[in-house]
Amino acid sequence: MTGLTKVILSEQDMPTHWYNIAADLPTAGVELPPPLNPATGEPLGPDGLAPIFPMALIMQEVSTERYIEIPDQVQEIYKLWRPTPLYRARRWEEALDTPARIYYKYEGVSPAGSHKPNTAVPQAYYNMKEGVTRLTTETGAGQWGSALSFACQMFDIECKVYMVKVSYEQKPYRKLLMQTWGATVVPSPSTQTNAGRAILAADPDSTGSLGIAISEAVEEAALRDDTKYALGSVLNHVLLHQTVIGQEVIKQLEIFEEEWPDVIVGCTGGGSNFGGLAFPFLRENIVNGKQTRIVAVEPAAAPSLTRGRYAYDFGDTAQMTPLMKMHTLGHDFVPAPIHAGGLRYHGMSSLVSAVKAAGLIEAVNVQQKAIFDAALSFTRAEGILPAPEASHAVLGAMQEALRCKESGASETIVFNLSGHGHFDLTAYESYLDNQLVDYEYPEAAIEASLAHLPQVA
Ligand SMILES: *Cc1c(COP(=O)(O)O)cnc(C)c1O
Repeated sequence: MTGLTKVILSEQDMPTHWYNIAADLPTAGVELPPPLNPATGEPLGPDGLAPIFPMALIMQEVSTERYIEIPDQVQEIYKLWRPTPLYRARRWEEALDTPARIYYKYEGVSPAGSHKPNTAVPQAYYNMKEGVTRLTTETGAGQWGSALSFACQMFDIECKVYMVKVSYEQKPYRKLLMQTWGATVVPSPSTQTNAGRAILAADPDSTGSLGIAISEAVEEAALRDDTKYALGSVLNHVLLHQTVIGQEVIKQLEIFEEEWPDVIVGCTGGGSNFGGLAFPFLRENIVNGKQTRIVAVEPAAAPSLTRGRYAYDFGDTAQMTPLMKMHTLGHDFVPAPIHAGGLRYHGMSSLVSAVKAAGLIEAVNVQQKAIFDAALSFTRAEGILPAPEASHAVLGAMQEALRCKESGASETIVFNLSGHGHFDLTAYESYLDNQLVDYEYPEAAIEASLAHLPQVA
């Protein structure tokens, strides 16, 4: 008897509420600085966000309620792929020859292949409820664009996606998936917005970035009455929606008869899959004295948590968003075109930034060849092909497992396998052909863009 390989909860065991860590941060002495109006430097009230977001999501953004009920219609759609499985990586443990027990939560079973529909569906739902008929958004690797295209299709909403140009060119199949779900997709920077035209005028060869694509999508939403904007990460309400992940894991570990985990690992682009897995565990650290280490893994090409400054900055390149206090590399920092397009962001969620600044979580940054080494090791043992973004968490978990091998500690490691890499095979091709490059650590570029942070009193 070798014990369980995976645990799949029944639909009756799905969480009925999202968990809001803002309710428990005061207990840890952590303050959450409010977003600011860039024109006045004053805190931005809910009305300040009303042109681009529906009021229900704005209220979640500022909520300090501990648990927020998941609407029935959203729960029904969640059931298309939730609850998601939690696996014990028995074969990979053996391959790594580690005494650690490694578990991974697999979010790649969703229609879009990642955790992103967990928030796309409620975002489309609340927009539909308030009569919105069009949504704009940005996408990096195409994961968020696909998730929102799918979610808009569920509620009969039009969807327009600005896709970072380097990904648009590297990933034609993601674009086709979005179009299949009814969305319109344009490469960013585009000539359709002032923000896009300004970037192209300065740099006609711009490969784009999430920061630029956000500017384009926000601009269009702000200028049209029928259109609002949806963001796939970073914001409090997005991390809130993702907490279904960690809540399920807690129940699944019980069925594995597992003690409380020693280490939680997640990759961080804007922080949503990481927060979604980690925050229900961080609550136990804060409230019940548990001592789980929580580790964020980010790319060396966009090292916001490990190298960024904890300061107020814009969420986008063209300075259209409110100022948010976060770990930032500067809003005009453009990360190298690594294959993990979903991690190419200059900033970080305010919630994740605040808990990092308070020392409640750890962070490391890693280079792209090492993440593909780890992804190959993982997929050859476990079968699932990780997305390049998720492979950052795979590497983080592997480093912890190898540390355990060295020390002989039989720790419990849980990581989030945030998505599959079936649309990322060009990246794997370049790895297998030995064409994959590590970009030089962008020290000088970070220094330069940090010099342009907005002045806040
Ligand atoms: C978008 C994406 C990420 C990064 O976004 P977060 O908000 O940091 O989670 C990570 N993994 C996958 C598979 C993604 O699609």
